[in-house]
Amino acid sequence: TSYLELSSITKSYGNFTALDNVSLSVEKGEFVTFLGPSGSGKTTTLMIVAGFEKASGGSVQVGGRSISELAPHERNIGIVFQNYALFPHKTAAENVYFPLQMRGVSRGKGLRQAEEMLSLVGLKGFGHRHPKELSGGQQQRVALARALVFEPSLLLLDEPLGALDKNLREQMQIEIKRIQRSLGVTTIFVTHDQSEAMSMSDRIVVFEKGRIEQCAAPLDIYHRP
Ligand code: ADP
Ligand code: ADP
Repeated sequence: TSYLELSSITKSYGNFTALDNVSLSVEKGEFVTFLGPSGSGKTTTLMIVAGFEKASGGSVQVGGRSISELAPHERNIGIVFQNYALFPHKTAAENVYFPLQMRGVSRGKGLRQAEEMLSLVGLKGFGHRHPKELSGGQQQRVALARALVFEPSLLLLDEPLGALDKNLREQMQIEIKRIQRSLGVTTIFVTHDQSEAMSMSDRIVVFEKGRIEQCAAPLDIYHRP
């Protein structure tokens, strides 16, 4: 029962082939990491799954339905990018409330849910602060809370820890794993950091020049010298 199914995805930009025949099945609740050097096709694949980019060929199915048939509000996908992009004039709680607001949830109820989600990511009591009053790691937690508050069926994380220093990064790796396990949300995590991929993933998908080179559990990934 695979939840996400990519079948023979190709993506071209003019004559350039960014993705060449990418196929992948992801199980419900699985934590899958896309690992590979810059330019290998990780983000492009993620953007196609998110529905932000259209594949040149192949198909993407989420929960048994083609992504192209799903309207944006039916996709139910939470996304976090490296440059968190919080709304600077909204408080942390208002940022987290935003996707609920888009779904018609009232302000009172939505802000309460936002506070609960902020507690889950370790930011109890920080809801009234604006992004500029938060550290980089705290801002990234807010972004994570915003991506999770509407109970997405799929969580897409594109180098969410790339801008953080080493200690904070390791702490956040553990936090993200804990939260992902507790919610059981199917997750795709993009990184070019091999140790991060090894420590966090159920399965690692290694990209190389627009193709999937390996796909295996962390301990079964073949290391090249
Ligand atoms: P990363 O390597 O961190 O994944 P990139 O810097 O390669 O990110 O690309 C960031 C974004 O810029 C991509 O999502 C892509 O849409 C866009 N982009 C990358 N390369 C090009 C390009 N040659 N021309 C136009 N847009 C590009
Ligand atoms: P990664 O995330 O692994 O760093 P990307 O998926 O961002 O790689 O990019 C894969 C390749 O596609 C890169 O060579 C990049 O320059 C190219 N690319 C991405 N987006 C665009 C775009 N909008 N126009 C042209 N080339 C692009």
